[in-house]
Amino acid sequence: MTSFNINDLVRENVKKLTPYSSARDEFSGEASIFLDANENCLGSPGIQWYNRYPDPHQTKIKKKLSAIKGVPVENIFIGNGSDECIDLLFRGFCNPGKDNVIICPPTYGMYQVSAEINDVEIKKVPLLDDFQLDLVHLENKVDDFTKIIWLCSPNNPTANSLNREDIEIVLNNFPGLVIIDEAYINFSRHRSFIQELGEYPNLVVLQTLSKAWGLAALRLGMAFASTDIIEVYNKIKPPYNVGQATQDIVLQALDNVENVNEMIRIIVQERELLREKLVALDQVEHVYPSDANFLLVKVTSARAAYNFLLTKGIVVRDRSNVQLCEGCLRITVGTPAENNSLINGLKEFKP
Ligand SMILES: *Cc1c(COP(=O)(O)O)cnc(C)c1O
Repeated sequence: MTSFNINDLVRENVKKLTPYSSARDEFSGEASIFLDANENCLGSPGIQWYNRYPDPHQTKIKKKLSAIKGVPVENIFIGNGSDECIDLLFRGFCNPGKDNVIICPPTYGMYQVSAEINDVEIKKVPLLDDFQLDLVHLENKVDDFTKIIWLCSPNNPTANSLNREDIEIVLNNFPGLVIIDEAYINFSRHRSFIQELGEYPNLVVLQTLSKAWGLAALRLGMAFASTDIIEVYNKIKPPYNVGQATQDIVLQALDNVENVNEMIRIIVQERELLREKLVALDQVEHVYPSDANFLLVKVTSARAAYNFLLTKGIVVRDRSNVQLCEGCLRITVGTPAENNSLINGLKEFKP
């Protein structure tokens, strides 16, 4: 195994580039008259004033996140949703038309879409039948141009966590970046990899405020990684990638960790109740174990079941055409009332 060296991974053009220097970068001290950023001096129309550019480094949010997550500020990057954290890794590390990345389907669709947008080749190493990593094929697929291995745990849409030992084998043996997307980690029985950053210089952990924190509309994703990797992120990110309104609301929300923990407890409890009710239905063939806020459910005639539920005004995700998820629906855990409507809808469905 070749050892990890960030300089072998970062794109040459990124190494050479001079990042955009914003007005807020060039002056960030105390002053009373700001005539440096071409903002509108008169205010904003009819709302709270948003006429000034936001903090490009989201310092206040990072400080609060640092305390909540137990990760130093310099190991945190904040993106406009995880989607931006994903895209910037391609842009920073993968040469279009030359490098490749590995994904393990069935998994989150954005890794492939983002690769295609960036003209980066995707190699697929499907999960095994038990939705765990196929380490043998993974090793075989890696070549000199493989920059990133994308892992998602708990995985979307299969809902399970990947075996920790398997992830550790990948981290210890692959000299490129290993991304662990932990969008659903708060609903899992398993520990985050966020405390292992010191152990693995090639590790990037992605988390988001879109799921457990209930803030999907605000668009705030987080990447936790070595300072070397965070520096690449900061070098290539759009200067003001997180808006002021988002920063304001997130700062308030981050003071309510207990509230979030209570929501997680309720959703996990509802998930297990929903599982019991689903398992009891004739129309349901299997409910897979879940470490997330959704269930992967194998039903008879999945497409017809999906369409029938639509006639009742209930939208679930049809995953029946996805490899290894044949015949499955992905169902987000709803409120008790929503879950009851779903169960009643399915009861009426006659395949
Ligand atoms: C929902 C989800 C995200 C969240 O993306 P955001 O852009 O932060 O909303 C990330 N990864 C996975 C696997 C998801 O399912």
